Amino acid sequence: MRELSDLDMKELAEEIAALGEKSFRAAQLYDWIHRKLACSYEEMSNIPGKLKEALKERFHFGALPIRVKQESAQDGTVKYLFGLADGNAVETVLMRYRYGNSVCVSSQVGCRMGCAFCASTLGGLKRSLSAGEILGQIYAVQQDSGERVSHVVVMGIGEPLDNYDNVLRFIRMLSDEKGLNISQRNITLSTCGLVPEIRRLAAEKLQITLALSLHAVNDEKRKSIMPVAKRYSLAEVMEAVDLYFKETGRRVSFEYALIAGVNDTVRDADGLAALAAPRHCHVNLIPVNPVTERGLEEPTKEAVNSFLGELTKRHVTATVRRELGRDIDGACGQLRHKAKESGNVM
Ligand code: SAH
Repeated sequence: MRELSDLDMKELAEEIAALGEKSFRAAQLYDWIHRKLACSYEEMSNIPGKLKEALKERFHFGALPIRVKQESAQDGTVKYLFGLADGNAVETVLMRYRYGNSVCVSSQVGCRMGCAFCASTLGGLKRSLSAGEILGQIYAVQQDSGERVSHVVVMGIGEPLDNYDNVLRFIRMLSDEKGLNISQRNITLSTCGLVPEIRRLAAEKLQITLALSLHAVNDEKRKSIMPVAKRYSLAEVMEAVDLYFKETGRRVSFEYALIAGVNDTVRDADGLAALAAPRHCHVNLIPVNPVTERGLEEPTKEAVNSFLGELTKRHVTATVRRELGRDIDGACGQLRHKAKESGNVM
């Protein structure tokens, strides 16, 4: 059964018309779902019971249930495992920064991209999430924390551009003034580099930030840790990223997970600078979060700093991502993976 929260304003209006109801009911419903963040049909006090019954027969509606919640004692980061109507589960993370609260959402159950360092891809792809299921993660976090969410990053489980239509609908609804009205400039979408979809996204002319998971600066090395690099060369990816900048004027982020002995040499820094320096971009260095099954190690603090120094020397704007929630399985897909291993979720 479809989620009621998947319907955008236009579809909701069509549904209401098909049920023979007055058109203002659509706006009322949209407000309950996407602004008041109702958790059930019962809460919608100004909606007639007959209409609720009719909707119940057609659409599932309800807040995503919290299956697991872990709060970091170190930095207040909260990691949630949310249940979905079909028994699957996804992870969502709330990070508290000085500039506001940022939520990291999942876009798929599992992932089929197969990156060598990532826990999300270990069991492959189960299915994509609907727009309502992605929105629901933010709504549930805001309800549970009682705090406003100001920033959203699509960097949880899954490859968002492998779920293009639903993710685009999600972004449009999230930034809609009839909903949470989160500025597109405060939304970041991270991709491993699906070239046709980056080009398609550029044409949408949104104001969101595009983050590219680079992780290696030549095709050979990139292929060895990211299977997607066998489909698209770095040259093609860079061309697509340049198009994104040209169409949107938005500075692109390059994500670079530092893995000891794999991509952390001076030569790597040099190659990264060659890609980054000529572009309007920002480099985010992430010391790799070790995943037991992956056997990859993070570089020492000194190695990370010297890599950063090499970039700065070459006039690249780069920062090391502050690590949040290490004590609560903060890295991509680790919580769902562990819950699966212990038989708690599908
Ligand atoms: N599929 C998308 C978004 C999800 S992952 C993408 O590939 O960009 C979000 C970021 O975390 C990506 O840059 C990803 O490469 C990185 N990542 C995954 N596993 C990691 C790990 N163990 N340590 C550090 N970063 C990791």
